Amino acid sequence: SKVPSITLNNGVTMPQLGFGVWQVENDEAFTTVGQALDAGYRSIDTAAIYGNEEGTGKALAASGIPRDELFVTTKLWNAEQGHDSTLRAFDASLAKLGLEYVDLYLIHWPLPSKDLYVETYRAFEKIYAEGRAKAIGVSNFLPGHLERLMGETSVVPAVNQIELHPQLSQAESRAFHARHNIVTEAWSPLGQGRGLLENPAIAELAAKHGRTPAQVVLRWHLQLGNVVIPKSVTPSRIAENIDVFGFELDDEDLATLARLDTGTRLGPDPATFDVA
Ligand code: NAD
Repeated sequence: SKVPSITLNNGVTMPQLGFGVWQVENDEAFTTVGQALDAGYRSIDTAAIYGNEEGTGKALAASGIPRDELFVTTKLWNAEQGHDSTLRAFDASLAKLGLEYVDLYLIHWPLPSKDLYVETYRAFEKIYAEGRAKAIGVSNFLPGHLERLMGETSVVPAVNQIELHPQLSQAESRAFHARHNIVTEAWSPLGQGRGLLENPAIAELAAKHGRTPAQVVLRWHLQLGNVVIPKSVTPSRIAENIDVFGFELDDEDLATLARLDTGTRLGPDPATFDVA
């Protein structure tokens, strides 16, 4: 496929562009993930809390695509943090997906107030040692959480999946990840389609390149070195969002997009989010 791969810190390769399935119903996931696979996506980002691991797994199986050409990510939900509960939750996710291994397993949120992420990650290290996750990592971790985790465990997280789009460019986290050889994966890369794609500066860049606003934003991520996982249930948009390898933003375009950074989150603040 035309999607380039990124090599994680343990040598595993991950497509730089994948398909996110948050807010896709389990029944709908079979069709939607099938459409994404048909369009050329090979990386799928789900989570236990999305409730669609089963539908996702069925679509993967029905596709007939060899397992080693797929990259499947799922995430441990907050309520299951803790050593034994993590091992049980992982088994349940694998069973729902109908897989023998996942490519990437992530701690969904750090929940600093619960203080369980180190213990949780030790269970992740076991799962990794058994080869049942080819890589392990985290999501929504701030640099301070990563520092503590790396100080107390031995496998450096391969990935930190964080909210990231032109209005929240996460320069500090990206620099921290780069120093520690952790790949930055952008969630809500299109800003959830809430306003960002109507921004006039982005519309202007889209016109300049003969592309759509979503394609300009995805191109920005790729040129920053991020892994991206845009979501859509609309076949034309699913196709549009992977057709981003035939043009390039120049320095001036990147500077224009850099000016959109307001530091505003769409999602919760990982420092305080503690919903389980
Ligand atoms: P996104 O930024 O991918 O935006 C998706 C929305 O943008 C769509 O629902 C649609 O309304 C619109 N859209 C998509 N393609 C478009 C196009 N080509 N043109 C116009 N509008 C378009 O939002 P997301 O779903 O929040 O994020 C992507 C993925 O990131 C999720 O599906 C999930 O896998 C992951 N995620 C992870 C976390 C986390 O805590 N780790 C949180 C949120 C999302």
